[in-house]
Amino acid sequence: MVDFTVPEETQLIVRGLRSFLEKEVKPLEERYKRFLEDERARLREDGRLVPEFQEVLDHVRRRSAELGYYGMHMPEEVGGGGVGRVGMALAFKEVFRHGLGLNVVVLAGPEGPSPMLLHLPEAQREKYLYPLMRGEKTTCFALTEPEAGSDIKNLKTTAVKKGDRYVLNGMKTFITNAVDADFAQVFAVTDPTLYKEHGYLGVTAFVVDRDTPGYQVGRVNRSLLDDGAQAELIFEDCEVPAENVIGQEGQGFYTAMSWLTVGRLNVAAMSVGLAHYLLEQSVEYARQRTAFGKPIGKYQHVRGMLAESAAELEAAERLLLYVAWRFDQGQDVIKESSMAKWFCTQALYRLADRAVQVHGGMGVMKELSIERIFRLARVLRIVEGTDEIQKETIAKGLGL
Ligand SMILES: Cc1cc2nc3c(=O)[nH]c(=O)nc-3n(C[C@H](O)[C@H](O)[C@H](O)COP(=O)(O)OP(=O)(O)OC[C@H]3O[C@@H](n4cnc5c(N)ncnc54)[C@H](O)[C@@H]3O)c2cc1C
Repeated sequence: MVDFTVPEETQLIVRGLRSFLEKEVKPLEERYKRFLEDERARLREDGRLVPEFQEVLDHVRRRSAELGYYGMHMPEEVGGGGVGRVGMALAFKEVFRHGLGLNVVVLAGPEGPSPMLLHLPEAQREKYLYPLMRGEKTTCFALTEPEAGSDIKNLKTTAVKKGDRYVLNGMKTFITNAVDADFAQVFAVTDPTLYKEHGYLGVTAFVVDRDTPGYQVGRVNRSLLDDGAQAELIFEDCEVPAENVIGQEGQGFYTAMSWLTVGRLNVAAMSVGLAHYLLEQSVEYARQRTAFGKPIGKYQHVRGMLAESAAELEAAERLLLYVAWRFDQGQDVIKESSMAKWFCTQALYRLADRAVQVHGGMGVMKELSIERIFRLARVLRIVEGTDEIQKETIAKGLGL
């Protein structure tokens, strides 16, 4: 029997989130509208966020942590909510069906607590994980390098053991939250021979404090989103204590696996939420806007666009929830999470394109967040594994 009932506990979380977004986040969005509508207002010359806007984002994040939303994907033993993937998929959907405002920091992304940090011993959890859970500190996930994006078998950053320390040298790029992170989770080659032979072994993950000598934030990467979020990290003879190894030496990629699958499902869920927002806005606009004497929603071409969007969104959401449910049952969903990531981001991209079209000129104006979502939709097809890498994973799962 197929049962699509959402458990009462999950419905409560979603309702709580909605109330937090409407009562606390929305009024702040109104007050700080100028930053949300205008990239030039929120960015400094060097591409970083202006301090006033950063403070508002930090406030929303801390408030979400206080209410238990920010860390709710983490287990209860570390102060999280123990919410499974179905619950998280619905939470992401709820948060992002409010569009792209201050809501973007309500649930943890790469700057927040991740299952990867559960591999730290208790003393290191105190220092790194718990402050993240409280929204007091932020981190970043530093894997990509100038010559190693999709091809993670080509990392050049090394960590050489010297007594009870490791010495890191190398460079990371496109790292989200690198500018503000209090510490980074860095992947470096510790056994070059094993890495060369195996590709997945010989890489170790470390937590590295930003005030460690030899740790430097490099250039801010200006992107299509222009949100000041990505930057380079440079390590020059940066000495990291051995207790900062996350998990086991040489097993960094395996330690990260739990996060990668979750990350893909989060992007899929975020896409579904944003797609809801776009569809709701577009239907409303098609009702209100008149041309040639009647609402544009009465024209077959416009109706057709909205009908296609509605059908695609329904399919994307069902796929997401099915994969999340299988994850919660403890099933292997490597192939399926790639399917969800690829399908949901593709669906969002098409929905965003149609939403722009339905809104006509308004669709590309900064007063509405439609054009911003359109740009983000393009980016989501690259982060957390490109379209092509997802398809590779699916094909491998088919035995090819
Ligand atoms: C906004 C943004 C935020 C990011 N945040 C982070 C972060 O926080 N941490 C982090 O570590 N990284 C981050 N990244 C990096 C991101 O993970 C990489 O950009 C992504 O994995 C692609 O790598 P690449 O840019 O080197 O492209 P490449 O790997 O060079 O790919 C170029 C093209 O070749 C295709 N391609 C490559 N290999 C294959 C293959 N085997 N088969 C078929 N096609 C292939 C790709 O699909 C793509 O179309 C971020 C990137 C962006 C844009």
